[in-house]
Formats: sequence, structure tokens, C-alpha cells
Amino acid sequence: MQLTPNQVRLMMLQVADAIIEAEPMLSQADRDLGDGDHGLGMKRGMEAVKAQLEPLEAASVEQVFVTTGTAMMTSMGGASGALFGTLFRAGGKALAASGNFDPPDLPLFFEAALEGVMKRGGAKPGDKTMIDALAPAAAKAREVTALPLAEAISAIADAAESGKEASKAMVAQFGRAKTLGEACIGFPDAGACSIVVMLNAMRSFVSC
Ligand code: ADP
Ligand code: MG
Ligand code: MG
Repeated sequence: MQLTPNQVRLMMLQVADAIIEAEPMLSQADRDLGDGDHGLGMKRGMEAVKAQLEPLEAASVEQVFVTTGTAMMTSMGGASGALFGTLFRAGGKALAASGNFDPPDLPLFFEAALEGVMKRGGAKPGDKTMIDALAPAAAKAREVTALPLAEAISAIADAAESGKEASKAMVAQFGRAKTLGEACIGFPDAGACSIVVMLNAMRSFVSC
């Protein structure tokens, strides 16, 4: 199974709806550790993504992901807008030479996305950020290129979920949660929760 650029566009519209629906959970996650604005920021970003993708005549997979990232970057503002924008723009640019979206594209996308976010924000695995869901996703993507697309994305979503769960035990080194010290143990990072919501939406798109 491969996804055409138009199918990737439809998948990202499903991702946008899933984030908008998850706004209360994402807001709560950021209230536990931060300033509580993550859910509304992501919702605003995804409304901008929908406005761009709904009328788009998708010409390439790269274009769909780069358009997604640019919409997030310009509508959300703040650190997480730049970071999620970078994630999709860097991941998308890595697929410039790809035709349809297929399993070998997965490590290209996720490794470039991870590298972009790490370069932009300076955080690394273990710092209790979205990277703690994204890095295990990228590592899993390298292992699943021989699987059918639906199984590959499902394995990547599971890896991100495990990473998000592991973030509960971490002490934050970045963002507002850093000031909490040990008090942040037991709560997952909000950005990692967003990564999991996105990957679960991708999984449900490719499994039906
Ligand atoms: P803000 O912290 O400005 O209120 P959000 O609440 O929207 O922004 O996003 C917070 C999320 O951004 C965190 O949960 C974390 O996942 C992510 N984040 C913050 N700083 C970094 C960083 N330097 N690198 C990677 N992710 C980060
Ligand atoms: Mg904020
Ligand atoms: Mg916040």
C-alpha cells in the first residue's frame, strides 16, 4: 500500500481533526506541567492546516507536509509552533524525491523531522519534550520499511506511545516544566501527547 499525495492530504486532514478533538486532553496535560495553552495552540494550528489543505490540489507528498508545517509555524506562534512547524517542514523536505508515500519514506520523514526539532530547540531524548515520543518513532521507522504501510505506521505509533509513557518518569530540562523539578514526575509531556494523537490518527487512516 502506498498513499498518493491526495491521500496524504486526506490523512493530514484526519490528523488535524484528531488534534482538534483532543484539545481538552492536551490542554490538561499542559496545565499539569506548563501554562495550559498547548491544546488551544495546537487547535489553532490545525484549523490553519485545514484551511490550507482543504482547497489544495496536492502535487506531491513533500508539498502536503511542508504546507502543514508552514501553516502551524505561522498560526501558532511561540516555541511549539516553530517546533511542530519544523517537524513537518523538515520531514516533508526529506521526501522531495519520493513519489507516493510508502514504507521506505517513513525513516526519511521521521529522521529529518527529529533532526530538525533537535536542531531548532536544542533538546535531546530524556529532556521530557515531544522528542521523547518522536525519537522512538524515528528509531522504529528504520526497522519497519519492509512491512506493509499500515503495519509500519501502527508499529511507529506504538513506539511513540511507549515514549510518551516513558516521559512520565522524566524530569523536564526544557520549557516551563523545567521549573517544577521532581514535581513533574508522573505526568507525560504535552508535546509528546500531541505526537501520539497525530500518529494514532495516521494509523486509523491507513488501517481502513
Ligand atoms: P509553550 O511552552 O510556549 O506554552 P506549548 O505549550 O504549545 O508551548 O508547547 C509545549 C511543548 O513544547 C512541550 O510539552 C514540549 O513537548 C515542547 N517543547 C518545548 N520546548 C521544547 C524544545 N526545546 N524542544 C522540543 N520540544 C519542546
Ligand atoms: Mg505558552
Ligand atoms: Mg504551554
